[in-house]
Amino acid sequence: MRVTVCGAAGEVTGSCYLVETERAKLLVDCGLFQGNRDADEKNLAALPVDPSELDAIVLTHAHLDHSGRLPLVVKRGYAGAIHGTPPSLDVCEILLEDAAHIQAQTVGHINKRRRRNHEPLIEPLYRREDVDKVVGLFAPLPYDTPREVAPGVSARLVEAGHILGSSSVVLTVQEGGAERTVLFSGDIGPWDRPILRDPAPPSSADVVFMESTYGGRDHRSLHDTVEEFHGILEDAVRRRKKLLMPVFAVGRTQQVFYHLASAFRSGRVPKFPVYLDSPLGQKATALYMKHRCIYDEEMNELRQTQQLKQDLSSLQYTQTPDDSRALNDVDGPCLIMAGAGMCNGGRILHHLRHGLERPDVEVILVGFMARHTVGRTLAEHAHTVRIFGDDLRVRARIHTLGGFSAHAGQTDLLRWLGIVAPSQPRLVLTHGEEDERLALAKQAQDRFGLAAERPELGDVLEL
Ligand SMILES: [Zn+2]
Ligand SMILES: [Zn+2]
Repeated sequence: MRVTVCGAAGEVTGSCYLVETERAKLLVDCGLFQGNRDADEKNLAALPVDPSELDAIVLTHAHLDHSGRLPLVVKRGYAGAIHGTPPSLDVCEILLEDAAHIQAQTVGHINKRRRRNHEPLIEPLYRREDVDKVVGLFAPLPYDTPREVAPGVSARLVEAGHILGSSSVVLTVQEGGAERTVLFSGDIGPWDRPILRDPAPPSSADVVFMESTYGGRDHRSLHDTVEEFHGILEDAVRRRKKLLMPVFAVGRTQQVFYHLASAFRSGRVPKFPVYLDSPLGQKATALYMKHRCIYDEEMNELRQTQQLKQDLSSLQYTQTPDDSRALNDVDGPCLIMAGAGMCNGGRILHHLRHGLERPDVEVILVGFMARHTVGRTLAEHAHTVRIFGDDLRVRARIHTLGGFSAHAGQTDLLRWLGIVAPSQPRLVLTHGEEDERLALAKQAQDRFGLAAERPELGDVLEL
């Protein structure tokens, strides 16, 4: 068998593996390249397989950098099943719908200008109809339940602790009378986080494809991060500040809710208005409520006692663009949470354009900010930021909270690897910028004696 790395090689986006055996061809993940300037080109490039020849697609989780090329593959002829955990497929549906909606909007704006200048019009990567076709192929696969997804290939999904429904994929391949196990980590979450269960990788594999997003560093501890967050809230209420927080709709939003609830419950922070200005975030929160099977014990208890609902009584959801604009006139103290998480689009940009030049505004950045995003520019404390063509002088205070990440830091990545390492698998590192990947490779060698490979985009590994 062989595996072709079709994305997330030396970078964090575009996750996609083509697995080929004597009898079967399948993809594990089919993610979008995001952020970089050559992303569009890479997204449109053909995969090294005719999609109509694929037997199956298996998803680790719903994030677009793992699922966002699905509509393209379906457009080009794939008509087989798309396997993922039931919550994952639900989340994938809302994320892909949202992506199609944003593309339609963006292309609409660009084409308006092009039409004026008599330039040729451009097409979106995909449309809502394409997403509907993808959803029609969804084949929910519960956790820890092996299923033959292609001739001679069985897939089992195990908890990855990253977002709602996230999994690692364990492929068992029968070929030439031998059986081999290939583990794809997907994105790995940290241990001991609220809401989700801890990652649960298998204890043995012949080959491991592992993410390395934070291969070289640890996040600030969750405890210190929560302290800092509660401190910012306390101060904001006292000084009547307006807080802006870019959030990812899935995972980050619900985690922030959890820590807001604990701040209000303890009485350390008096209740003040919180707005979730993200229809997508609201949908994702509803999915978290629907799929209770993924909760850890503490979360189950909070839900059963209705405690969370009471704690978050000052939370309001905004729907229409008018509701969103109305928040411009709301005075502090308040917290406005809006997407996109890295400020590379979405309603948060409007709030930032309105608020960045004001000294009574504070911005709370949480989590990974990819290169070439407004979020990264703010995190690096630039004096000016360009939004919608305007150069804004940053007078708002910028906070960066390190410990709310949905990604394992180096210590937890090694904890994860330590579970499968005794079986001495062949280790392949992906999904990380090169310096992070190198750092993790060194640790894998020092701690477990595993010589990690670091493939480039398009590399083919014979297993
Ligand atoms: Zn992810
Ligand atoms: Zn990812």
